[in-house]
Amino acid sequence: MLNDLLARNRNWSAERQEQEPDFFTRLAAQQAPEYFWIGCSDSRVPANVVAGLDPGEVFVHRNVANVIHSSDMNLLSALEFAVDTLHVREVIVCGHYGCGGVKAATEDVPHGLADHWLEPIRRLARSYAADLTQLPDIEQRRERLAELNVVDGVRRVAETPILRRAWQHGADIRIHGLIYGLKDGRLRDLDCTVGPDHFQSADAT
Ligand SMILES: [Zn+2]
Repeated sequence: MLNDLLARNRNWSAERQEQEPDFFTRLAAQQAPEYFWIGCSDSRVPANVVAGLDPGEVFVHRNVANVIHSSDMNLLSALEFAVDTLHVREVIVCGHYGCGGVKAATEDVPHGLADHWLEPIRRLARSYAADLTQLPDIEQRRERLAELNVVDGVRRVAETPILRRAWQHGADIRIHGLIYGLKDGRLRDLDCTVGPDHFQSADAT
């Protein structure tokens, strides 16, 4: 198995260098991605592949069900580096339909540590219970919950001191919420983008 993987890597490396001889030397010198992607660990949603991006074009953080915990040092460290050092312009929170983490959060059976991790999704499900029960079946409720989790994630990223500070210093960063369809390979914009005026508009209301 591992030998297969290493052989695939050798082929990929050779093909990439054939297409662009200085590809690896250029990337080794510096990465300058425009995007920071926060997505699910699901093997079917690899950021570079589904967004059609090359190595070097997207900085990535993934966890189970793309949950934004405001005290997650792993996520916050990556976010801070992306914003303050890489100066990314677009932060993308990407969920997906058919998410096992979202499904687990809707089940009444124990999942061990995952139940702690997925607690924000359970809380969202309770908050939006009246809306979710309008949907005809559990699959549609889970799909809607996956969308709500993304929208909530965008808001949580926007509320971090990292983004607040960056916007105060004039950084033109936007945070977008996307959802990916496993069945058609398409990314959809959930139209919940927030940008530099986020705190201004919040203060005005
Ligand atoms: Zn998932």
